[in-house]
Amino acid sequence: MSLPSCTPKFRVAICGAGIGGLALAVTIGKFAGHDIHIDLYETHDAITTAGAGIVVSQRTLEVIKELDMYEDISRASTKPPSSSQGTTYRRSNALQGGVEWFHMMKHASPYMHRQHLVDILRQHLPSSCRLHLKKRLTRYDKQLSGSLILHFADDSTATTDLLIGADGIRSSVRKTLFETLNRDVVDPSKIRHYVDPSWTGTLVYRTVIPAKKLSEIDPNNLALKDFIVFCGKGKSVVSYPVSQGTMINVVALVADEQKAGTPFEGHWVSDVSPEEVQEPYQDFEPDVRNLLKCVENPSRWALHVVNELPLSTCDRVALIGDACHAMTPNFAAGAGQAMEDAFVLGRLLAHPLATLDNVPAALKAYQDVRLPFSQFVARESRRTGRMIVDPPSTDRENAQAELEILKEKILAQLQWEDKDDAVGEWLEAERKLQESVGVTNGQTS
Ligand SMILES: Cc1cc2nc3c(=O)[nH]c(=O)nc-3n(C[C@H](O)[C@H](O)[C@H](O)COP(=O)(O)OP(=O)(O)OC[C@H]3O[C@@H](n4cnc5c(N)ncnc54)[C@H](O)[C@@H]3O)c2cc1C
Repeated sequence: MSLPSCTPKFRVAICGAGIGGLALAVTIGKFAGHDIHIDLYETHDAITTAGAGIVVSQRTLEVIKELDMYEDISRASTKPPSSSQGTTYRRSNALQGGVEWFHMMKHASPYMHRQHLVDILRQHLPSSCRLHLKKRLTRYDKQLSGSLILHFADDSTATTDLLIGADGIRSSVRKTLFETLNRDVVDPSKIRHYVDPSWTGTLVYRTVIPAKKLSEIDPNNLALKDFIVFCGKGKSVVSYPVSQGTMINVVALVADEQKAGTPFEGHWVSDVSPEEVQEPYQDFEPDVRNLLKCVENPSRWALHVVNELPLSTCDRVALIGDACHAMTPNFAAGAGQAMEDAFVLGRLLAHPLATLDNVPAALKAYQDVRLPFSQFVARESRRTGRMIVDPPSTDRENAQAELEILKEKILAQLQWEDKDDAVGEWLEAERKLQESVGVTNGQTS
């Protein structure tokens, strides 16, 4: 075992201990040991997470294997990755009973309680990482030396060599990065477009319900068994069991495309009554109406996204996860994409070629590989979401044929995972780093 070196090659500050920030600290710790010192800043007084269920895609599982967390994740999953039954999509806007629209078996992904994933990541935090709770970053300044001064809401400051914004959709790091960019890099009239998230016109109701409560009123309810997407015009309900099947995660969406891009008035997240969740689904099949009868303490989320950014890094600052590409949940991919960012970036920083002088080259390699793909996922996720809530009306002459065509389109969209995975992305990023540093040093790579 190698002894920790006394002087780390540089210090990294990670702002935000969500899934992306934690995964980055774990990756750096695993591949750089004590060669990189990590400060992880989190605004809350504990590492927690919003929402209940999370789907871990096959691509994300590859990252999880690389980080030696596969066994832990398998144990925490509602069903082990090998026995998941895939996802059933139903046409559910039918009072008497819906019908199965299609089934997606490929890429059957495990799902679990979010907090379990966060707890596992936290348990894998390296000893080179110092966690600072109750530290809300407000902005940062660049110094002539290249290092950065971090400013926090409690008026304290800290210095770092490199800053990673893993601070979610309302990222302070993204805000400072774009507000301080040179005018020749980004058109000043577009700065607000990059800084401010945009409302999709969709409201999302999130809750978990006890499986026992549902089985008492409807023992054969489909939601008790597996992953179901109940679809209707402008509305859908996604449900799947979590916590070893004792709870059911429910995500109900009400979409209004006309409102996309308009400002959302009011709080983005608020507690609402069960009646507010039940009301839009009165024309849905009985399984949905019974499921929603069991709703307890639901919250309503105004679904926002980050507009497509022209860059995710500048000098010694980079963005990962929702701070960079918060997306709609239709591919259940946002956290997975945050982990892929973290894995590729973490490996690059740990690379022997990534010295303090070469950090901008490492960040550029990260951006070149990850930004186009994460933005592709975000775009296609949103497009798929629109298709899911737009089945043709049954009274149309060609309804069945149109439904088949739509099904094929959705199935094609759901193949997004087939592209090169995070390990392939990392190798590509490493090649870019080698090329770029080779040129910088005047050597042929
Ligand atoms: C309804 C819904 C369902 C979803 N389902 C899935 C799914 O099944 N699978 C999936 O992969 N993804 C899913 N997602 C997406 C996923 O939740 C996000 O993409 C993921 O949580 C992003 O992780 P993150 O670490 O980038 O950001 P966040 O989870 O937002 O974490 C950011 C962290 O930074 C902290 N922070 C914020 N500002 C500051 C600051 N100024 N200073 C210090 N700390 C700060 C926050 O407290 C938080 O801990 C879903 C999203 C929604 C809305």
